Amino acid sequence: MSTILFPSPVFGPVRSRRLGVSLGVNLMPADGKVCTFNCIYCECGLNGTHIPTQKRPAQQEVYQMLRAKLADMKLNGQLPDVITFAGNGEPTSHPRFAAIIRDTLALRDQYCPKAKVSVLTNGTYLHRREVFDALRLVDNNIVKLDAVLPQMVRQINQPAIWYTPEEQIRYLSAFRGKVTIQTLFLRGTVNGQDITNIKEENIRPWLSALLDIMPGHVMLYTIDRETPISTLSKASSRELDAIAARVRKLGFHVSVSY
Ligand code: SF4
Repeated sequence: MSTILFPSPVFGPVRSRRLGVSLGVNLMPADGKVCTFNCIYCECGLNGTHIPTQKRPAQQEVYQMLRAKLADMKLNGQLPDVITFAGNGEPTSHPRFAAIIRDTLALRDQYCPKAKVSVLTNGTYLHRREVFDALRLVDNNIVKLDAVLPQMVRQINQPAIWYTPEEQIRYLSAFRGKVTIQTLFLRGTVNGQDITNIKEENIRPWLSALLDIMPGHVMLYTIDRETPISTLSKASSRELDAIAARVRKLGFHVSVSY
C-alpha cells in the first residue's frame, strides 16, 4: 500500500477536504509514525511498519520554521485559512505540545490573524491538564471518536495505551461544547471479524455519547485513500447522510466528507 508520511515540523500548505487551505504542523519525526492509536485505516500505516530514526522536532525548531513559513506566505500574499496540527501520529504526545500551541497562537496573531488553529487529535492525552487547557485555546479542537463500544474501539483504533470510551466521554464533556467530534465510518473485516461501525449497535451508543459530550460540531467522514488493511471499504454517501440526519435531529451542527 502507499503510505503517507509528512515532512516535519511544517508542511504544505495543502488543501484539506475538511479544513480548507491548510498549513500543516507535524510534531512527530519526518521519517516515521508515532501514535498512541493504531487505527486500521491510518494513512501513515500501521504502528511498527515505519519506526522513526529521527527525533521529534524541538519547540524552538517548530517556532522558527513556522515563523519563517508564515513570513514567506505573507510576503507572497498567500496566507493559510488554517494552521493544522496533524501528521505522522498524535500531536498532543509531544512533551512541549502546550508551549508549542501558545507559540503558534502568537505567530498566528502576528502574521495571519484571520487564520484558525486546528488540532486533529485522538484525545489520548486529555488526562494531562496542560494538554486539555491548550486544546481549549485553539479554534478547532477536533477529537477522534470512531466508536464507543470498547470492543469496537479495540478493533478499529487499537489503542496502545490505557483508553476507555467511558472515561474519554467524560473528558470530552468537560470541554463544554468547545470540541469537534470527528468520526470515520467504514465497513470491513479484520482477521475474519466484522469491524463495520455503520451498524446500529455502534451508532445508537455513539449518538448517546454525543448527547453527553454536547460538541459544538460533528464531522463525519470515511476512508479516502488506500488503507494498510485491504479488507476495508468506504461508507456510502447514503449511509453517511443518514447518520448525519440523525445527528442533526439531535440539534448538532454536522458536516460530511464523502
Ligand atoms: S489516531 Fe490518527 S495517526 Fe494515530 S493511528 Fe489513528 S489515524 Fe493514524
